[in-house]
Amino acid sequence: MLKELINDLIFYGKYHLELSELDALYIKNIILGELNLLSPSEESYFGEKNVKKMDLPDDLVIKMKEALINELNKDEVEADLLVNKFLGLISPLPSKVEENFFNIYKKDGDEAALDYLYNLSIKNYYFQKTNVNKNIVWDSNFEKRNIEVSINLSKPEKNNKDVAKLLTAAPVTNYPKCLLCLENLGFKGTAKHPARSNIRIIPVKLDGAEWFIQYSPFGYFYKHCIVFSKDHKNMIINKSTLKKLCDFVDQFPSFFIGSNADLPIVGGSILNHEHFQGGKHILPAMKQNPEFEFEVKHHKGVKVYKLDWYNSTILVEGKDAKQVVDVADIILEAWRKYSDPENDIIASDETGNHNTITPSIRKVGDAYKLYLILRNNRCNEEHPDGIFHAHKEHHAIKKEGIGIIEALGLFILPGRLKRQKEEIKEILKKWSISGKNHADLKDLFDFEAMINYLFDNYNESTIDKDIDKYIENTCKEILINTAVFKETEKGISGFKKFVNSLDL
Ligand SMILES: [Zn+2]
Repeated sequence: MLKELINDLIFYGKYHLELSELDALYIKNIILGELNLLSPSEESYFGEKNVKKMDLPDDLVIKMKEALINELNKDEVEADLLVNKFLGLISPLPSKVEENFFNIYKKDGDEAALDYLYNLSIKNYYFQKTNVNKNIVWDSNFEKRNIEVSINLSKPEKNNKDVAKLLTAAPVTNYPKCLLCLENLGFKGTAKHPARSNIRIIPVKLDGAEWFIQYSPFGYFYKHCIVFSKDHKNMIINKSTLKKLCDFVDQFPSFFIGSNADLPIVGGSILNHEHFQGGKHILPAMKQNPEFEFEVKHHKGVKVYKLDWYNSTILVEGKDAKQVVDVADIILEAWRKYSDPENDIIASDETGNHNTITPSIRKVGDAYKLYLILRNNRCNEEHPDGIFHAHKEHHAIKKEGIGIIEALGLFILPGRLKRQKEEIKEILKKWSISGKNHADLKDLFDFEAMINYLFDNYNESTIDKDIDKYIENTCKEILINTAVFKETEKGISGFKKFVNSLDL
């Protein structure tokens, strides 16, 4: 079966990944050699015609892994790494992808070029579409300030025994330094570091610096891309970051782009490699209108608003990139040093600096819309995990940092919630028959408040919807937790006082 599948893999490359006749033979021999197989088969497992019709390589990948495990005694992780390597081999070389991308860009524009890289990433299994489609995604349908919720089921779960074996065998190296380093390009992978044989990336110049575009393997929203610096250096938000974001949407106006903040708690999960996130999706906050306008004295081409959104978001709008960046930089620099103890905002103390911004931008026609979310990561006794972080009562649903995607209204919730939702339903059903019994909570103790609330309003026929509603409302509360200026009289006047103190 394995030899026949190798033929199918080569067919797949020819029909879906631009593999030429000569390269096909060359790559086939390399794969045979890698597996110590002395000669090829003349047969096909799926049949050439069926391979030609495949939309996705999933069936081929599954069978190939099975064959490597059964015929060559590979374990699951080794089989995974090998299949990934072969998918990389049948894909066009990075230089060819770059050449194709820019030819399409010149001829048909940024969207067509980004589509080319997206489709290639799906065809060569870098972006595992079937897996990502397993995510449960829904819309809150709030009357105003809608949010989107996603339960993330796409991260692959590995056989623990294989992982343990490989973890002990995996040599301790510092290469690549992190998941976002350029050196991942073609990396075979270990038990500690994912395989990246089939990743393809595109160079892009941002504020004069060398950066690269890749798609996110997890795809939290449509055409979710990561744009990363060539250098492994810490996340930073400064004037150059704002210029880089503008430069990106100048070159790729069909995508939005944004950066996580550069401080823990209010940043993303990777702080040690400068990167942005973007995509084709319009995140909920970006659909919101301005709530009120601030006065701008000197930059006449720019308008500054408070956005009608849960957290403290300033919208800077204008057609002149330089003016937009200048105004945003004045706000950023002032915010870094700004304290408003009445609203619990303290810029720095003995534990370090606390104020930063989560910026994102998109282009509408020839106008820039730059969103600046004011953030503060201070902790106190009442909120040891962060005053402007998801408060403790919401941790059962989400306790990870509220990064750019959530702050803009798309919540990525842990996969465990799918199972926990079912367990909660079982408890409620039991309680509705035989009464409340707290012993039933077992490892759902963190959900006690939620289960009590749902029990008080229990209706078996609407329970799925009621659970989802509870989750949506929790997400909303979390966004309100992250607001540095609450939407109270004190908070709004604090917000106005801050922006009005600036010489814009
Ligand atoms: Zn890195």
